[in-house]
Amino acid sequence: MKQASIVTIGNEILAGLTVDTNAAFLAIELQNIGIPVVSSYTVGDEIDAIVQKLNLASSDADVIVVTGGLGPTDDDITRQAFAKFLGVELELREEIFQRLIDFFKSRNIPMPEKNKVQAYIPSGAEYIPNVGTAPGIIARNEGKMLIALPGVPWEADKMFKFVIPELKEFAGTQAIEVCRLKCFGLGESVIAEMLGDKMLRGRNPLVNCTVHDGIITLHIVASAENSEKAIQKCREEEKKLREVLGDLVYGSGDETLAEAVSKKLALQGKTIATAESCTGGLLSKMLTDISGSSNYFNYGWITYSNKAKITQLDVPADLIEQYGAVSEQVAKEMAQGARKKSGADFAIAITGIAGPTGGSEQKPVGLVYICVDYDGGCDVKQCFFTFGREFTRLRAAHTALNMLRQRLG
Ligand code: ATP
Ligand code: MG
Repeated sequence: MKQASIVTIGNEILAGLTVDTNAAFLAIELQNIGIPVVSSYTVGDEIDAIVQKLNLASSDADVIVVTGGLGPTDDDITRQAFAKFLGVELELREEIFQRLIDFFKSRNIPMPEKNKVQAYIPSGAEYIPNVGTAPGIIARNEGKMLIALPGVPWEADKMFKFVIPELKEFAGTQAIEVCRLKCFGLGESVIAEMLGDKMLRGRNPLVNCTVHDGIITLHIVASAENSEKAIQKCREEEKKLREVLGDLVYGSGDETLAEAVSKKLALQGKTIATAESCTGGLLSKMLTDISGSSNYFNYGWITYSNKAKITQLDVPADLIEQYGAVSEQVAKEMAQGARKKSGADFAIAITGIAGPTGGSEQKPVGLVYICVDYDGGCDVKQCFFTFGREFTRLRAAHTALNMLRQRLG
């Protein structure tokens, strides 16, 4: 199996001013095409230091992917470092130069003289067409494949996609397919336990698990002699995982919880209103992030103060007095008020203590009540979130979306 090493270039990464997201996305992309990353280096803008890391990377792996330092300025020296490492000269490539001229012409701006340097690549290397001004570089050296991409993440991503077919060919005859299942509702260790030996290493398909903001993504990586068979394997595994996890799976691919909910709302022709306190509009933002949300998103209230809850949503003042604004009773009243006032089919209310101030022994920071009100009843949940204000707000909004998803069936 072919393996990869990543070299990210830039003083700003070493200084901690730029977070190395390129190494992260490249590691995932490479793994997805069956070329696992075995080492990763970060190096400053210095030719000999880069050459040294290229030597290390090529003693570790078969594919070396470099990002950064392909711009036109004097601190962009990846081209020179590549040429030095390969023991060749840089040469002007007319077709790249022409593309640069066209790039500036199409924007109606004169091409700075400095940019011409970007038309030079090491002799014998191929280039990856630029999406910005910097073309990438592909070079073969002693059975290894070296790829240089620009530092700007979206450019690197787009140009990496361009080399995937060549990389797949280089990696061997096996076709690799990846599909993803998105889950919410339980922790990763519980999910891993439920999956049992389906997550064993060395399996084909291999099941990997990542977690972001409480959303668990299962990556199913299948390899086979051709792409159809690999897709088939992926689909079969996906079916098995869905059987085990049931309702915990809310979607696939890059789907968000809000997207999964909005699909259901649109399909069922239902509408939703929100009444938010501690999330300050986050839930409404998530729902309206989706184009076409006006078809189902009806009204949204941010009733942060008691007064707003009373005047806007008709929450009885004595109820707040008796139980407090963060209580099951008030969450219910907020949701009922929002549904009544908006005429929506569903209303979600969130009230809680995001912290870090405002907690008490009885009502600690992280305590949140969520209510989904609908014709015929309401679902209420008491949650305790830890790890701070941002986490609490995010998890509260996600939990609310998940409750609505489950109610929609
Ligand atoms: P440019 O033409 O913009 O100079 P370049 O290929 O020379 O492109 P760099 O100068 O190294 O790239 O980086 C440009 C910008 O891209 C950086 O300022 C930074 O914002 C971002 N960047 C660079 N490397 C990384 C990385 N490893 N991870 C995330 N972002 C990065
Ligand atoms: Mg640069």
